[in-house]
Amino acid sequence: MLQDLWFDPAKCLIGGEWVAPSGGATLPLFDPSTGEEIGAIARGGAADIDAAVASATAAWQGAWGRTPAAERGRILTALGRLVAEKVDVLARIEAADVGKPLKQARADALALARYLEFYGGAADKLHGDTIPYLDGYTVYTLREPHGVTGHIVPWNYPMQIIGRSVGAALATGNACVLKPAEDACLTALAFADLARQVGLPEGALNVVPGLGSEAGAALTAHPGVHHISFTGSVATGAMVQEAAARNVVPVTLELGGKSPQIVFEDADLEAALPFLVNAGIQNCGQTCSASSRILVQRKLYEQLAEFMGARYAALRVGRAVDDLDAGPLISAKQKGLVEGFLARGEGLEIAGQAQLGDLPDGGYYVAPTLFSGVAPDHTLAQDEVFGPVQVIIPFDDEAEAVQIANGTDYGLVAGVWTRDGARQMRMAKAIRAGQVFLNNYGAGGGVELPFGGIGKSGHGREKGFEALYGFTTLKTVAAFHG
Ligand code: NAD
Repeated sequence: MLQDLWFDPAKCLIGGEWVAPSGGATLPLFDPSTGEEIGAIARGGAADIDAAVASATAAWQGAWGRTPAAERGRILTALGRLVAEKVDVLARIEAADVGKPLKQARADALALARYLEFYGGAADKLHGDTIPYLDGYTVYTLREPHGVTGHIVPWNYPMQIIGRSVGAALATGNACVLKPAEDACLTALAFADLARQVGLPEGALNVVPGLGSEAGAALTAHPGVHHISFTGSVATGAMVQEAAARNVVPVTLELGGKSPQIVFEDADLEAALPFLVNAGIQNCGQTCSASSRILVQRKLYEQLAEFMGARYAALRVGRAVDDLDAGPLISAKQKGLVEGFLARGEGLEIAGQAQLGDLPDGGYYVAPTLFSGVAPDHTLAQDEVFGPVQVIIPFDDEAEAVQIANGTDYGLVAGVWTRDGARQMRMAKAIRAGQVFLNNYGAGGGVELPFGGIGKSGHGREKGFEALYGFTTLKTVAAFHG
C-alpha cells in the first residue's frame, strides 16, 4: 500500500467514521505507471449507500443544517488552508493512483484548495430577493439547500471535480454522499478525512467508493437523495438522468466534449502554439475540455501542422514520478480504447508523434499523436477519444469554421485565435458551447468561471457563483398583512 496514506482505503467514510463496506468486499488498486497492483479499495454497495444517505439526512436535519452560513464558510476556508498545506502529499497520492505527472497532480490539489477558498468566501453571500407585489403583501425569496446531494465523480480530475461540486454543495448547506470513481478514490477519501479534521460535522460528507454499477447506481436511484451532480461519460450520464427522473430529482450532467480551437490566418501564432498542443495532451488527453480538434484557416495550414508536429515529436512521456509532459493513461481499459481510435486513424497523415522511450512494460502508455488533413466527419473528428490524440482540420472562411466547430454532438468549450475584434465577437456568439475563449484556451481554469455544456456535453452549470444557484432551491414567501 502507498506510504503516504494515513487511512485505510478499503474502508468507507460514513457519519464521520471509517467503516468497512458491508460484506467487506474490496477492489484491486493499480499504479497506471507500472500496471502493478499496489493495494485494495472498498467495494461499497447498496447497503453502504443506504447508511451514507441516512447519515447525510441526519446531518442536514441536524447539526449541519443548523450551522449558520458564515460558519459553513469558515469551515470550508479552514479546509482549503489544510488542503493547501497538504498539497505535496495529495499530489503524490494522486500521481500514484491515476498516473498524473506530479506537477499536474499538484495543480489539481491547489485548485481544490482554491475552490474551498472561493466557496468558503461565498457561503454567506448568497441571498434571496424582495419582490414588489400587490398592496398589503410583502414577498421575498429564500435560497435553501436541496438537502442530501449525491456526487458521482470520474477518475480524470478527482480533486478539482470534488472541489467544484462538493465545495459548492457544502457551502449552500447540503449534506453530501460522494461516490468517487473506482479507478481513483484515494484523494476523495483523503479530502473527506481532512474535512473531518477541520470540524465538518459528522455526516455532512460521506464517501462510498465502489463500482458505478453497484454503489453509483444505488446512489442515483436512492429516494433519499434530493439532487445529483454527475461528471462522466455520455452513456452513464443518460442512465443517471433516467434513474433520477424516477424520483423526480434534478441532475447536473458534466459530460464529454470534442472541443475545437479555431486558428484564423491573422492569429498570433507564437501565443497560440503552446495552448494548441497543451490543451490536447494535458492529463494525457483525459480531459473533458481537451481541445481535440484544431481548425486552421487554409493559408496557415501547412505551417501550423509543421509547428505542432515538431512539438509532438519533442514531447516526453514517462511515469507520474518522472513528471514529464505526459504520463500513462488511467487503466488498461482506457489504453485499449485509445489504441482502437489510433487504429481507426490508419491511412491518415501523422503530422507528429511522440516517441515512447524506456518505460515500464506493464504501464498504460500510448504515444501522443497528431493527425492532419482529417475530414470533419471522420470518427477522430467527431468522437471523444479521451487520450492524447488531436486532429488538424483546414477551413476556408469564417462561415465554414463555425459550421465545422458546431458540427459534432458536443458543445463544451471552444477557443478562437484571431486579432480581429469584430470577428472575435461574431465567433463568440456563433459557437455552441458552454465556454468560449478568445485568444487563450481554458483561461487558467478559473474556479470563478461558470462551466458546463450543451448538447451531449450535458446541462447545468458548475463552478463560480452559478453553482450555488444549482445547489439551492428557491422558495417564495408571500405574506399578506393588509
Ligand atoms: P464513466 O461515466 O464511466 O464514470 C464516471 C463515474 O460514474 C464513475 O464514478 C463511475 O463509477 C460512475 N458510474 C458508472 N456507471 C454508473 C451507473 N450505472 N450509475 C451511476 N454511476 C455510475 O466515465 P469515466 O470513464 O469515468 O470518465 C470519462 C468521461 O467523463 C469522458 O467522457 C469525459 O469527457 C467525461 N468527463 C466530463 C467532465 C466534465 O466536466 N464535463 C469532466 C471529467 C470527465
